[in-house]
Amino acid sequence: MDTHRLVYLDHQATTPVDPTVLEAMLPYFGQHFGNAASKGHDFGWAAEKAVDQARESLAAGIGARAREIVFTSGATEADNLAVLGAARMYQTKGQHLISCATEHKAVLDPMQALQAQGYEVTFLGVDAQGRIDLDELRAAIRPDTVLVSIMHGNNEVGNLHPIAEIGAICREHGALFHTDATQTLGKEEIDVDAMNIDLLSASAHKLYGPKGIGMLYVRRRNPRVRLEAIMFGGGHERGLRSGTLNVPGIVGFAKALELCLADRAGQQQRIGALRDRLQKSILERLDFVEFNGDPEHRLACNLNLSFAFIEGESLIMGIPGIAVSSGSACTSASLEPSYVLRAMGVGDELAHSSIRFGIGRFNSEEEIDYVADAVVAAVKRLREMSPLYEMALEGIDLSSVQWQGH
Ligand SMILES: *Cc1c(COP(=O)(O)O)cnc(C)c1O
Repeated sequence: MDTHRLVYLDHQATTPVDPTVLEAMLPYFGQHFGNAASKGHDFGWAAEKAVDQARESLAAGIGARAREIVFTSGATEADNLAVLGAARMYQTKGQHLISCATEHKAVLDPMQALQAQGYEVTFLGVDAQGRIDLDELRAAIRPDTVLVSIMHGNNEVGNLHPIAEIGAICREHGALFHTDATQTLGKEEIDVDAMNIDLLSASAHKLYGPKGIGMLYVRRRNPRVRLEAIMFGGGHERGLRSGTLNVPGIVGFAKALELCLADRAGQQQRIGALRDRLQKSILERLDFVEFNGDPEHRLACNLNLSFAFIEGESLIMGIPGIAVSSGSACTSASLEPSYVLRAMGVGDELAHSSIRFGIGRFNSEEEIDYVADAVVAAVKRLREMSPLYEMALEGIDLSSVQWQGH
């Protein structure tokens, strides 16, 4: 078997569990295995106490109160609860929602499910750098708009939306504001009061915590937000999310956020420097590489590039052992270009040639240099086989030429 060095650069997909997080979780699989809803014995109380502490800590991390945190199985469930729960609860006030074309599917799909049930949804477009127009948002809000859902950091191109400004606009116009902060919790500053956030989704496995645990922040005052549950059972989480609590996951989630916040600025700075190093090293040595996203307001850990004249999938095959992600999604029938890049007006050709690099806490400078060298070598090798690349070098206008077989 071919052996190659493994380098993980796909931290927008998931992150490894930090060893300190794992250590904090372990007692809750063994010794303290109790059900946090068991009110009559020590096993239950120990679990409940751990959950209470974790809830306090997670709430404090976003400037919220413990009673405003609802634990879910992840951000997908939190997004569904926010969107479906608010739409159904406030349907007599109105049946109009606003979101954005570049949201995660965990927001887009419930929005589309609501459309199928007769709700109206306005999907804001974005410019070439993935930015929404705040005037367009203002103009889209109507008296019957019940919810605006705009993510904080984009998982593909790393854009940071101005959520404090969006929150202020929503508050002024009387619409609730939900933000999917899965990519930013623990990385960017978040304060639900200062930013007028009414609902916020997050997930532990994007911040060095375990998979299968997430949360929804639900504002309880100024204004008090009410949601209709989407899960029914034992009435856990104030009736908003029935189901036995994932105690080790919750403990790990809180520990993961504590670790992030203990050195947030330092990590952002270090990871941002690695990202800049990778970007510079690749762009210095290759031509016809397009940067995707907002060069100014973006996640420190993310880099999305399109390598013209080659397919992202071929590039990924050409750098074995290096874990990155391409701008195409395999659907059952074909390779679809990323809908996020498409919404930004990136052509199908360039979208198919895009790669997302996601840098994390455990990556080293040496790994970054290794990846940059491997990418540059693979792109050069693949382009040697491309007559169109030769034509481009000669300055022939290729704007109307397709270089791939889609
Ligand atoms: C990963 C991700 C999700 C889904 O989170 P899960 O916990 O895996 O369900 C939702 N939104 C964004 C922005 C993400 O990056």
